[in-house]
Amino acid sequence: MTLLDIIHPDNPILRKKAKRVTTFDKKFQALVDDMVETMIEAPGVGLAAPQVAVSQRMAVIRLQDDEKSKEEFGDLAGKLYVVVNPEIVKTSKEMVEGVEGCLSIPGYLGTVDRFEKITIDSLDRYGKPQRIKAEGWLARVFQHEIDHLDGKLYIDIAKEVWEVRPEDQDDENVVAE
Ligand code: ZN
Repeated sequence: MTLLDIIHPDNPILRKKAKRVTTFDKKFQALVDDMVETMIEAPGVGLAAPQVAVSQRMAVIRLQDDEKSKEEFGDLAGKLYVVVNPEIVKTSKEMVEGVEGCLSIPGYLGTVDRFEKITIDSLDRYGKPQRIKAEGWLARVFQHEIDHLDGKLYIDIAKEVWEVRPEDQDDENVVAE
């Protein structure tokens, strides 16, 4: 497996609407594996293909599996999701405010309103349809990644964005997406 380079907003691929995936060949499987490895190494809880300069509608998501995360998320901690051509088919009425970071915009965090609960229809890495229901932090990560597939970044919709000073890093429990 290979660690991939994560691109930043100076690269126009990050701002493009990504293309639907139609091929689930060996090359695509290798991309999925490389993205999972890159996300975990970063470390991050989500990574969308455009962030590694591949303009395709695919993202990987995995909440951390450390003790704190297990306490908070139970079985969802460490569970890997691969979504291909995802569509949000249902949302809650409630929006919740939360803090997000992005692997493509290192050193910054922002406050963003997201739907509290969502239902996503997508294909898995082999092209099989799957429906995922997510809420809270997991729903937030999905919304952040799906935005990436449309060339949108959290800073576009954040109410506030701030720079994280290295000495503050221990106080911030947010993992980038
Ligand atoms: Zn991001």
